[in-house]
Amino acid sequence: MKYRFLIVFYLLCIQSAATFAQTYSILIKGGTVIDPKNNLNQIMDVGIYEGKIKKIAKDINPSEARQVVDAKGMYVTPGLIDIHGHVFFGTEPNHYLSNGLVAVPPDGFTFRVGVTTIVDAGGAGWESFSEFKNNVIFNSKTRVLSFLNIVGEGMRGGNYEQDTSDMDPNLAAAVAIKNRNDIVGFKVAHFIGNDWKPVDNAVKAGTLANMPVMIDFGGSTPPLPLEDLFMKHLRKGDIFTHAYTLLEGNVRETIVDEATQKVKPFVLEARKKGIVFDVGYGGASFNYSQAIPAVKAGFYPETISTDLHTGSMNGSMKDMLSIMSKFYAMGMDLPAVIKASTWTPAKVIKRENLGHISENAIADVAVFSMRKGNFGFYDKTGYKMEGKEKLECEMTIMGGKIVYDLNGIAKPIYLK
Ligand SMILES: [Zn+2]
Repeated sequence: MKYRFLIVFYLLCIQSAATFAQTYSILIKGGTVIDPKNNLNQIMDVGIYEGKIKKIAKDINPSEARQVVDAKGMYVTPGLIDIHGHVFFGTEPNHYLSNGLVAVPPDGFTFRVGVTTIVDAGGAGWESFSEFKNNVIFNSKTRVLSFLNIVGEGMRGGNYEQDTSDMDPNLAAAVAIKNRNDIVGFKVAHFIGNDWKPVDNAVKAGTLANMPVMIDFGGSTPPLPLEDLFMKHLRKGDIFTHAYTLLEGNVRETIVDEATQKVKPFVLEARKKGIVFDVGYGGASFNYSQAIPAVKAGFYPETISTDLHTGSMNGSMKDMLSIMSKFYAMGMDLPAVIKASTWTPAKVIKRENLGHISENAIADVAVFSMRKGNFGFYDKTGYKMEGKEKLECEMTIMGGKIVYDLNGIAKPIYLK
């Protein structure tokens, strides 16, 4: 009996010694690493330890790792960053995207498509931010950040979003400065009217807090000039979301002239100034008639984002990968698509610690395969492009932990 106990003890010691001897908790082996920040696009192994990227090298010995991911034939990229989602979900009736039923819980929509960071775009304002933080930010596995709405009540819909007296730059900036870890900028959205106050007050808040603003330009009849927005009201680094939309009824100007199919000259000037053009795909905010000529002319989006909510998730938008595959089908090369979904959004929201696979960086990593077949990519008008390739998420790693594994490519598989 005593002898048997000693053997068990001895075996346990060997096992724990072996565990301690391991250099990596996870080793991703044989995948093509596309990391635009570091200009990487080649087959490399990636070793992860204690939540960080420990080593990127041509050939890392699998015996040094506790868990090995076979990524042969797959792409390994930084975890995706979606800078325009709506995740301030709740049960309040008539609260739209602010603690209401139109926003969605992030974890159900992020990891399965490689997203590790999502920015809620204006669901909360300074009055509702603490509720958003307690309910969603603290209780989500996904890294959730916020563009704070310039409207104190946030995106409650209807008259709330039209109330210019509730657009206080000082209070918004104060809450943003106090919550720098969670708030990355300010949002203007859905304002209808011939008034620059919403934009100007958001920019004021942005200047006070040293943060960018994201503009959903709402509508006006006649439309407020886009050129004035870019050149007179916004600053370098401010974000124009829904860049490729064509709205009914001539309420908002477009970036591409629909008659000549050319990107308007002042839009090119705005890009030179440093205005960021974001997709913000949504339910009604993407038209091929804008995107195809823009992409053909090399006018790629700086950032690809979903505008995820119940009104877009099952429409032509679907998810990040669907939009990324669409831009790839339109002719944007894969590293550019990955850059617009990782490193550039990280810079735009001033989170340069994210969006890249560098040694010592946070280990947020996505593994994709490129499915081959016949795929249809349509927009809100029903216009459809055919494509032969489509990205599919195989694995998502967040902070050094596997949070999604579609086909069990990790060996051994731990389910905890
Ligand atoms: Zn939105």
